[in-house]
Amino acid sequence: MLGNSWQIGRVFGIPLRIHISWFLVFALVVWSGRSYFPYVLPSSPSWVYWAMGIVAALLLFASVLVHELGHCLVAMRYRIPIAQITLFIFGGMAQIRREAPTPKAEFLIAIAGPIVSVVVGLGFWLLAALPGSPPELTAVSEHLRNINLMLATFNLVPGYPLDGGRVLRAALWAWSKNFHKATRQAARTGQGFAVLLMLFGAWDLVAGPAIGGVWFLLIGAFLYTAAHNTHRQVAFQESLMGLRVGDVMTPDVVVLEAGMPLDEAVDNYFLRFGYGGFPVVQNGRLVGMLSLKELKTIPRHRWGTITVGEVMAPHNLQAEIHPDEPITAAMERMFHDDRSRLVVRDEDKVLGLVTRSGIARFLDLRQR
Ligand SMILES: [Zn+2]
Repeated sequence: MLGNSWQIGRVFGIPLRIHISWFLVFALVVWSGRSYFPYVLPSSPSWVYWAMGIVAALLLFASVLVHELGHCLVAMRYRIPIAQITLFIFGGMAQIRREAPTPKAEFLIAIAGPIVSVVVGLGFWLLAALPGSPPELTAVSEHLRNINLMLATFNLVPGYPLDGGRVLRAALWAWSKNFHKATRQAARTGQGFAVLLMLFGAWDLVAGPAIGGVWFLLIGAFLYTAAHNTHRQVAFQESLMGLRVGDVMTPDVVVLEAGMPLDEAVDNYFLRFGYGGFPVVQNGRLVGMLSLKELKTIPRHRWGTITVGEVMAPHNLQAEIHPDEPITAAMERMFHDDRSRLVVRDEDKVLGLVTRSGIARFLDLRQR
């Protein structure tokens, strides 16, 4: 979803990325500081307001970052790997690789972000209240106090995928013991809240030429899309549930003999059947897999002198799967080992092949 982003470093080993839309936020905060600070701190030279705006924008950056780190550090305590943190126009997004193992874990991961924001907000509150500090520092601290408390409040709204929506999902999940149902319900409330936001934005626009209206419309639209996608994703995961490898595999698998020369394999099998790979057998036993990937490493003029057995990927247990295994296990293994096909085998018999494209086609047909 977020193209156009750059990694600017790592925090706690997690890649930190900035999306191009973040610069718009930066500009907005600096610009709004330019109109806000003269109001609380009149009669300073103009460059002071600009400088305060820039400092406020940098501190906002840090505030959003520590909010996301709050989520990440709790997730890491549950041994859930974090792919990356991305800062973009609507704040931050920590990409967590796996769903939380329990409702309690889900709750703690979700609530950690807003708690961090409240603590940071209180910190700026203290800083603002410090007697004898320069008025510029007080003004910036008050600004950041408000921003952080707003960040916590907005994120606690109980609509998935906001933090509050995750808290709601954790509660529903604990209550119904059904993760998918809980996700669907939390996403529904997320969509409902998004509609409210957009209505409010529209009303604000009609009431007066305020930039707030556009902002609410945008956030609402973003939230609606995210909640809607979640809904679709759940439907997809549910459609996979209960499916076994045997249900989606390609039966009548065509196999290659290990002693066959490559040119014969190409002419009579790869070109004729159009598959990307074939299991290789020797004396009726599965010994490996030959796919276009291996074939491409051999120059064409040597195809007549080299046999399938010499270039195939030797068979290992990771490349095969039992027909009774759930289809999700096959997909996970293909994804994890970067394979595009697995041999379906029961005892010594090769029953078929399960491929990425085959699964995609199967699901596509089922959804119609
Ligand atoms: Zn959060």
